Amino acid sequence: MEDELNRLAQEARNTLDAVAEPAELEAFRVRFLGRKGLFSTVMRRLGTVSPEDRPRLGQLANTVKQGIEKLYEEKKQALAGASAPTKAAEDLSLPGRHIPFGKLHPVTQVMEEICAIFEGMGFAVAEGPDVELDHYNFAALNIPEHHPARAMHDTFYVSDSILLRTHTSPMQARIMEAQEPPLRYIAPGKVYRCDSDITHTPMFHQVEGFLVDRRVSFADLKGVLTIFTRRMFDDDLALRFRPSFFPFTEPSAEVDIACVICGGKGCRVCKRTGWLEILGAGLIDPEVLKMVNYDPDAYSGFAFGLGVERIAMLKYGIDDIRLFYENDLRFLGQF
Ligand SMILES: [Zn+2]
Repeated sequence: MEDELNRLAQEARNTLDAVAEPAELEAFRVRFLGRKGLFSTVMRRLGTVSPEDRPRLGQLANTVKQGIEKLYEEKKQALAGASAPTKAAEDLSLPGRHIPFGKLHPVTQVMEEICAIFEGMGFAVAEGPDVELDHYNFAALNIPEHHPARAMHDTFYVSDSILLRTHTSPMQARIMEAQEPPLRYIAPGKVYRCDSDITHTPMFHQVEGFLVDRRVSFADLKGVLTIFTRRMFDDDLALRFRPSFFPFTEPSAEVDIACVICGGKGCRVCKRTGWLEILGAGLIDPEVLKMVNYDPDAYSGFAFGLGVERIAMLKYGIDDIRLFYENDLRFLGQF
């Protein structure tokens, strides 16, 4: 019987070690310590042992059982401590946990909106390298070396013939060189100029667009840009085309929209003119077509370029371009 008690004590300790949940602990209690449990069964047999062994075995049985009961109480405390946070999590009266969601940057949102409008008019999207050859950034766009227009671009040069593109127009030359008309493309992306103030940052975003086909006229350009500006801002927005000059378009125009802040009455943002310049455009210069071996008598086309930050600032009434790049969540969270 002494051996039996020791074996039972060992088995009880092993079983208790493996207990991990309150339900298992209760099963342990019933099996070992309950009124019909294993210890009770052994102790009932004390009556059958010889009277001289009975006190010694009785004392041993009590010591073993009390030791197991003590371990059982300790386990019960440990499990109660571990399950406390679970109970708190189940408390439905507690306030919900706030999980902040990430969002697209306002410049990205506006860029995607611009692309979606042109894609709706059948334009395909093409992307090109930020580090560009001088040839595609300038020479292929009718801006030869020492041309005064280069001075306006404040270019970051990597070497004599490699630079950070100053506009997204190089994609026009790259695509025309690789494909035959008809072409209808937009090229969104980052551009770089050595310039920084409340309306300029050294890196900003442009969307270039162009279309080449037979008999493309200025009327086609006006139609496409009118649809674009009205979808971007307002269905009955007024716009005007002002004569301008770009080396790669002829004739060239700058496009103004009626001031979206004052509705054309004149305010600080539109400098009292009632108009806001939003993009440059024109018919592709025949010299540019010749450089990619297109016949300018057979084909014509138009091109335009717009600044994404400029459109985002007008659309949301933002007066400092640098806010886009300070990554202040109080600003970014508003879009
Ligand atoms: Zn205004």
